[in-house]
Amino acid sequence: MALYVHKYGGTSVGTVERIKYVADKINQARKQGDDIVVVVSAMSGETDRLLGLAREMQRQPNPRELDVLLSTGEQVTIALLCMALEAEGCPASSYTGAQARILTDAAHTKARILDIDTSRVRRDLEQGKVVVVAGFQGVNEEGDITTLGRGGSDTTAVALAAALKADECRIYTDVDGVYTTDPRVEPKARRLDRITFEEMLEMASLGSKVLQIRAVEFAGKYNVPLRVLSTFDDGPGTLITYEEEEMEQALISGIAFNRDEAKLTVEGVPDHPGIAASILGPIADANIEVDMIVQNVAENDTTDFTFTVHRNDYARALEILQGVCRDLGANQVTGDDHIVKVSMVGVGMRSHAGIASKMFRALAEEGINIRMISTSEIKVSVVLDEKYLELAVRTLHETFGLDTPPGA
Ligand code: ASP
Ligand code: MG
Repeated sequence: MALYVHKYGGTSVGTVERIKYVADKINQARKQGDDIVVVVSAMSGETDRLLGLAREMQRQPNPRELDVLLSTGEQVTIALLCMALEAEGCPASSYTGAQARILTDAAHTKARILDIDTSRVRRDLEQGKVVVVAGFQGVNEEGDITTLGRGGSDTTAVALAAALKADECRIYTDVDGVYTTDPRVEPKARRLDRITFEEMLEMASLGSKVLQIRAVEFAGKYNVPLRVLSTFDDGPGTLITYEEEEMEQALISGIAFNRDEAKLTVEGVPDHPGIAASILGPIADANIEVDMIVQNVAENDTTDFTFTVHRNDYARALEILQGVCRDLGANQVTGDDHIVKVSMVGVGMRSHAGIASKMFRALAEEGINIRMISTSEIKVSVVLDEKYLELAVRTLHETFGLDTPPGA
């Protein structure tokens, strides 16, 4: 007999009808003889609604109280789902994060799971019950309610699957899997049958919002087979798993992109030890995350220093750099917040040379100017003017053979 953790996101439990539909789906699976633990999100829009209420009370809501408030969203869903299951004749019990003994650290609104005591969940399973756990929440050592950050129900599901040594953690959502790229940009995008944890992490961190990044990290660390699949359509979805040696890897698994980029350059910085630190130090102190970093070769003892940040941080970063520029005696600060990052991801490129040059050639043939480049073992990223995003994604999708085969 297999043990599955199912996770249903906000849209999957967004209405009473949908909760009943999900209950029916769970009941069918249980009738096949499997043990099932279910993790649910708040009904769609509920977490945002609660956040809105909190902000009407306090501009910066007290984090402890915010967690008490936000955790109620999931608490509603677990109770309703258990009622729907019972109405179908399926025995079920609901648990809040605290009741399920999901112990976290004390970092309110972004807590990390430390430990799960699964004895109660196991007892229920042994009695033939479906166990329904509220996602996105836990309890700290003081007994205070904590939440795990937006999208945190994915992490609850993976953590429970790891603690219970489940056969698979199934993330049911409103898409039917992980795609080679965003189908809204490239309609020929294909669903992947499988992808590695490493690749999924890169795709997720580049803005493919199917799964919370922390959930993917967790699954990779504890080797929890993770499957993304549709709540409403049958289909195999996408399995996220370890790289298998004998598998013939595609060179490129997907093309991810990020529209929220901006870049800044400090021009004519005197080139001596410590400049990178004196430029990026104040940026880090302002809690601004830096992504790509490029320092040019020095000419006449000065150099240019360029990096990218999230577009929301652009104005702040520019202001900080004006000060840094004066202090360092650099020439000037320039920037651009109309850029995007496009990345090709694939574990297959690890063993193949020439992927990057093939990428650059394909972009050049379309007249697309590359503004910055960075590479890692399984990724090549380029920064482009935002007007080229769609063209670049489609060009690379075709060049690397990711398009749906004709007639498929
Ligand atoms: N309800 C929470 C959110 O909207 C957690 C989740 O759905 O995963 O972020
Ligand atoms: Mg989600």
